[in-house]
Amino acid sequence: MVQATETKETESRKLLQRLRDAMAEDSAGQARLDKITHLIADSTGSEVCSIYLFRDTETLELCATEGLNAEAVHQTRMKLGEGLVGRVARFGRVVNTTDAPSAKGFRYMPETGEEIYSSFLGVPVQRLGEKLGVLVVQSKEARAYSADEVYALEVVAMVLAEMAELGAFVGEGAALAAPHQNPSLLRGTTGQEGAAEGHVWLHEPRVVVTNPIAEDPHAELVRLREAVDELRVSVDQMLDGAVGGDSEQMQVLEAYRMFANSKGWMRRMEEDISRGLSAEAAVEKEQSQARARMNMANDAYLRERLHDLDDLSNRLLRILTGQGQNTGAEMPADPILIARNIGPAELLDYGRSLKGIVLEEGSVGSHAAIVARALAIPLVVHASRITTDALNGNHIMVDGDQGIVHLRPDDTVVTAFRDKIAMQAKAQERYASIRDKTATTKCGKTIAMHMNAGLMADLPSLDSSGAEGVGLFRTELQFLVRNQMPKRSELSALYNRVLDAASGKRVVFRTLDIGSDKVLPYMKPNDEPNPALGWRAIRVGLDRRGVMRMQLQALIRAAAGRPLSIMFPFVAQYEEYSQARAEMDKVLAREAKLGHTLPEVIEVGAMLETPSLAFAPDKFYEEVDFLSIGGNDLKQFFFAADRENERVRKRYDTLNVSFLTFLEGIVKRCEASNTSLSFCGEDAGRPIEAICLAAMGLRSLSMRPASIGPVKNILRSVDLDGVRRIIEEARLRGDQSVRPAVMTYLQSQH
Ligand code: PEP
Ligand code: MG
Repeated sequence: MVQATETKETESRKLLQRLRDAMAEDSAGQARLDKITHLIADSTGSEVCSIYLFRDTETLELCATEGLNAEAVHQTRMKLGEGLVGRVARFGRVVNTTDAPSAKGFRYMPETGEEIYSSFLGVPVQRLGEKLGVLVVQSKEARAYSADEVYALEVVAMVLAEMAELGAFVGEGAALAAPHQNPSLLRGTTGQEGAAEGHVWLHEPRVVVTNPIAEDPHAELVRLREAVDELRVSVDQMLDGAVGGDSEQMQVLEAYRMFANSKGWMRRMEEDISRGLSAEAAVEKEQSQARARMNMANDAYLRERLHDLDDLSNRLLRILTGQGQNTGAEMPADPILIARNIGPAELLDYGRSLKGIVLEEGSVGSHAAIVARALAIPLVVHASRITTDALNGNHIMVDGDQGIVHLRPDDTVVTAFRDKIAMQAKAQERYASIRDKTATTKCGKTIAMHMNAGLMADLPSLDSSGAEGVGLFRTELQFLVRNQMPKRSELSALYNRVLDAASGKRVVFRTLDIGSDKVLPYMKPNDEPNPALGWRAIRVGLDRRGVMRMQLQALIRAAAGRPLSIMFPFVAQYEEYSQARAEMDKVLAREAKLGHTLPEVIEVGAMLETPSLAFAPDKFYEEVDFLSIGGNDLKQFFFAADRENERVRKRYDTLNVSFLTFLEGIVKRCEASNTSLSFCGEDAGRPIEAICLAAMGLRSLSMRPASIGPVKNILRSVDLDGVRRIIEEARLRGDQSVRPAVMTYLQSQH
């Protein structure tokens, strides 16, 4: 038995050696493919061996064959999922049948002459989750390919994938195009709007395996074992260093350790090596299979674990190849960052040097997305394949508005995209020219323009955008980007720098707004059935007074004699505000006792984010120093539609008559009690929405800095009385949303 296995392994190695010799010959891609199909057919005792490669993401093409009609080469094509070959490609799984013509999904291709072949074995050719093609062997006899033969063919397919990546099969036609050369369009999801052109900068440079086939399996086994030992030691060290640290990190490291010690993982790699693969190729084969499973897995936990295995494989490959994170490559002057995912702190390290960001995973609500938004860097998330397709230095264009990425774009795309950027730049020029002007409408009403911020890096935008102040400073970002609770002294120093940078302009600090979608990495997440309706924002603050007090102290100390504006988030009833304010007064008294300079004046406001507050007692409206409508939350509760749920989010228009009427009621109450009111949700930064908010009586808006120009520009050109009239008419007519009527009106005015 041992002997039989060894014989097979020797045969497998022999085939790989022959493949390597074929590759070493100085021939063209097509000639190599022809030779390879011949070698594989011969070595597996099959009458047919064919290689199908993708000519585009949806179509496979027969690129070489031994046994099928030669005329069919480059003529026979099938869609992903079509026929047995298409099925192998679609599901990334082996199809092995003794009776192909009666197998499910079989499609008859007369030009190939394959109807006489009964047995069919197809294995996917894939590399790190990227589908490259299908390798097939067929025979007339109804022969069942053994598990061992399947395995051997998978090893060969792995080598083919590596060779394809190295450009060994480049030739005529789309299917033989050089890898990483063709233009590629990737569709993802908008994380942050904006257009950017630049060159690829890979956050994690890929490890390149240049020697998939090895001569001496024994030497490779030794290399693999030594590398795995080194890996195990490094994982143990990471674990020792993390003891007592955050539990999520510990969990990941424990998973690393489990994989690093997994006998199955090791055994499979050793077997691959005994069949002729190099240690690196064996690791990558396992990694490719894990990626393929990852792409199919629906279970979140399983996906996470496969991710861990992927990370671990990368570490092992780096040990084996000696290729570190730092490849010596120089960051381009206009870098577009490409990563599978990235943490907020790492993103902040790159800071504003980045022109754009494309993530293979990520999510719109992730912390990295929050940071990208704060830095106003165009971001596309969920751009599948980007990390395998892009090479450092590739030309790339990111359309953050559409969630589209053009990798290595052709001339027509480049021209169209540049036109778009030029138009945006032109608009920017126009905005710059009105930067120091007020947002005064044609009918003479002036709307105060403030900006939203959350990072120190946002502050320069105060000047460049022409904002009158910061209407919303989201303090939780400082908590979100850290691995542990920031210290009071750190926060105080930061708030102090924010106030310095604002040079006298008003900054409204919103106290910690965590919970719901904003989970602190170092605070145990609560298992709540409805986090958006759960323990969040001021509810956490009032129940955990220590954190709230610490933040209030930090703010008071930072103000050090300057005016201070504080706003409590998510206040749902009067009592919550008065309790928070009482806490504030206590802190003030204590700070005075400790000898700290108190702020010159202090105003304490609340965010109106729940419909209940619109109906709070008059006393609340009289007591509160100011109110700011958090439209993002208010809208989700008004319509009972989760702001994170794409399915329902867009169902309800902000310009819905009911919502506008509701907002108008709040404006009236504030006017009656002389309470200053602003609006700081995302809608404030959308031109048509901003016009309607102003028409409903709002006189202060706070938005992303990049929105100030467009919103101010349009406000300066409208007659709010006219818009108001249109809204009244729409209301009387019973329109659901005033948007169509307002749009028609605005068009008629230009
Ligand atoms: C809002 O809810 O509108 C708001 C501004 O706060 P956030 O988006 O941070 O919840
Ligand atoms: Mg909110």
